[in-house]
Amino acid sequence: MDNLYDVIIIGGGPSGLTSGIYTSRARLKSLLIESLEIPGQAVIADNIENYPGFPEGINGFALVEKFKKQAKTFGLDFATGTVEKINTVKQNDISFWQIKTEDKTFNSLSIIVATGASHTKLNVPGEEKFTGKGVSYCATCDGALFRDKDIVLVGGGDAAVEEALFLTKFCRKITLIHRRDSLRATKILQERILSNKKMEFIWDSRVIEIMGEQKVKSVKVKNIKTNEEKMVTCEGVFIFIGQSPNTGFLKGIVELDETGYIVADENMKSSREGIFACGDCRRKLLPQIVTACGDGATAAVSARKCIEKLKGTEYK
Ligand code: NAP
Repeated sequence: MDNLYDVIIIGGGPSGLTSGIYTSRARLKSLLIESLEIPGQAVIADNIENYPGFPEGINGFALVEKFKKQAKTFGLDFATGTVEKINTVKQNDISFWQIKTEDKTFNSLSIIVATGASHTKLNVPGEEKFTGKGVSYCATCDGALFRDKDIVLVGGGDAAVEEALFLTKFCRKITLIHRRDSLRATKILQERILSNKKMEFIWDSRVIEIMGEQKVKSVKVKNIKTNEEKMVTCEGVFIFIGQSPNTGFLKGIVELDETGYIVADENMKSSREGIFACGDCRRKLLPQIVTACGDGATAAVSARKCIEKLKGTEYK
């Protein structure tokens, strides 16, 4: 079959692009499908300062563009689309995977899933209504809209604190609301945020409603220890409370854990022969760019071994 790829990589973030660099260098017929609808977590990061080799830090978009340029150098093919379905097909005694996006179908002997994770929602009244009208999940995209304004930011992890630090460049005041009395974020980030004069903190509290008319005007906050409720006036609400994996299309095909992350072994093999997983969509201890790259390289080598076994071309 002319249009049969050896490997199709789903996802154009650091793990997928690293896989692409490795599969292309192994001279596997490789295609990477990237979604324009779901921006990767790395791309929207303002400044990445824990990826080795960039002592001054590097903008996420710039870093991912470098990965992409490198993958193109080695001949990786690219397509755009959001994968909605995958299934197996048998034709002329060859079994392969069919990968369907909104409007195209691709065929491949193996798949590397590198779909990452998307922001988790608070699921409170007003959140959906005011998304794009004050509610945001991306400081890099929307921060400048809140110049000299007062905003609220929800969450206590690395993402919340990094994004809050970025937003201090624009906003007049940021009130960080966290459900505990201390932050989960890495200590160096905690030191920076706790000493920043633009920051205020409301501890042990949850945002229970986002309110406004055409746009956000305030949030209702509840202290989870005292049950006391109060209103906080703000023009923006930035939500950074973790991520959920983009693995919906794999339900019933590979083993997922209770929260939807792909269960894959140290060689990135999923429960299904020919499907590999890497990066933030995989259950793992440390979902960061540096580990995503390692996963991507490993998944590519596992896919290569799988293809060589299928074709009987192993180096023995
Ligand atoms: P995270 O580490 O899981 O933190 C999520 C935060 O949101 C936690 O503080 C959590 O509170 C809070 N939260 C969760 N659900 C909530 C809810 N329903 N209501 C209110 N608060 C809620 O997620 P993340 O910050 O997105 O980071 C994800 C991973 O990426 C982490 O491994 C992180 O280290 C990594 N990351 C790294 C960097 C970096 O290295 N520079 C930057 C960004 C992200 P609790 O603390 O009470 O659970």
